[in-house]
Amino acid sequence: MDQVKQMFVNGEWISAESGETLQIFNPATGDTVGTVSFGDGRDAKKAIDAAHAAFPAWSRLTARERSKYLYNLYELVRNSRDELAAIISAEMGKPLREAKGEVLGAADNFMWYAEEAKRVYGETIPSSVPNKRIMVLRQPLGVVGAITPWNFPVNMVARKIAPALAAGCTVVLKPAESTPLSAIRLFELIEQAGFPKGVVNLVVGKPESIGQEFMDNPKLQKIGFTGSTRVGKLLMEGAAKQVKRVSLELGGHAPFIVFPDADLDAAVEGLFESKFRNSGQMCICTNRLYVHDEVADAFAEKLVERLKKAKVGDGRNKDTEIGPLVNERALKKVLDHIDDAKSKGGRIAAGGNRLTEGDYAKGFYCEPTVITDVTEEMKIAYEETFGPVVPIIRFQDEAAVVAAANNTRYGLAAYVYTKDNARCFRMAEQLEYGIVGINDGSPTQTQAPFGGFKESGIGREGGHFGLEEYLETKFVSFGI
Ligand code: ADP
Repeated sequence: MDQVKQMFVNGEWISAESGETLQIFNPATGDTVGTVSFGDGRDAKKAIDAAHAAFPAWSRLTARERSKYLYNLYELVRNSRDELAAIISAEMGKPLREAKGEVLGAADNFMWYAEEAKRVYGETIPSSVPNKRIMVLRQPLGVVGAITPWNFPVNMVARKIAPALAAGCTVVLKPAESTPLSAIRLFELIEQAGFPKGVVNLVVGKPESIGQEFMDNPKLQKIGFTGSTRVGKLLMEGAAKQVKRVSLELGGHAPFIVFPDADLDAAVEGLFESKFRNSGQMCICTNRLYVHDEVADAFAEKLVERLKKAKVGDGRNKDTEIGPLVNERALKKVLDHIDDAKSKGGRIAAGGNRLTEGDYAKGFYCEPTVITDVTEEMKIAYEETFGPVVPIIRFQDEAAVVAAANNTRYGLAAYVYTKDNARCFRMAEQLEYGIVGINDGSPTQTQAPFGGFKESGIGREGGHFGLEEYLETKFVSFGI
């Protein structure tokens, strides 16, 4: 059997206190792709102690010195692109091409924050009285606990640890239990980049137990989380006891609105990006497609044609465009949404089934699916599907479609296709979402703020917004 991969705490590779291990599977084949040491709150406590001890020296380094470590890591990650992408693809099924893009995105975050670390500016403010001076300092929060999901197992880590380290915080990361292998490889690169011991720590293990330690341990000042709204709420509640800071990037239910004046070919490509990338397993994925009556049939036809060309398969094959779903539970949920829509009058225009022929039998594959005649009563119209299924809802009126699009507790991403400039601005302003893609099906960039309104979360990742999440504001009043 392969060597058991360990956790990285205080600059050393260690096994779980409990001695437990966990096997990791490839969702395309069911094969075991690795075994990891699987810890709990006790290991998290050790890591928090290490991060706490490392904080004073790390936070007092000049920003330029911290920046050098991040820049080293940027280079190492960029040069390990193919290797990291292969691990991502093997542990969660993502097509290789996308996995390579994810790794470059992660590298870009390390570079961006290597630069941004140098721009943590304070302020001086004119005083109301002659014998005082006001100075405002921005300082790192302290130890940060980061919890990341399986759908972008490297980039989600980068988006948390890069700004935290740039700000001068120290970090304990808990990656998702189904995708620890890419995180472990990333930490081997972190070790190579030469970060002082204890500055960045990795704990793989039981989510509830590690999460509890993050919430209860007073040495930890902040929890940065990406995942389900359910777990985000648990963490926020738990963090409230010590008024810990939280950044939460939670679920979504993105509307994608196609107006009759849209470039339909561009809209189909935009939808393909926003719906089928990562097999539909992204929090910014389209979940409701609203198409104007006048173009609904033409749009559906073009979309079905596009899907016929899409290659579904093992993510490790070069030509795969859509991989498997991450596990059986995910596949069951997607099939349940399809069945529920069918039972309430939805019509299947493409796909609709699990793929079971030949090699597909070994993995969790769902056909790319289009459902028409969708109504607001169907689960797919209000629950997050997280799979390659497009429900088409027709609309006639702009105000009504905006009201329908906003009628959800989620508020992460929304998409609009139109060529009317005035309507672009109305949509940008009226949609209650943290991210609005206008004639853009893939609105993410390292320097832009990423995060949600309402129950989609709190805080932003990306650019200077992301750095601010890891800084405290201190007012210093000088009597002179
Ligand atoms: P998903 O359903 O997409 O897996 P989760 O919210 O369950 O989303 O998982 C996202 C991350 O949260 C993972 O790292 C997972 O291990 C972690 N997690 C799950 N439950 C808890 C919990 N009770 N406390 C802390 N972290 C948790």
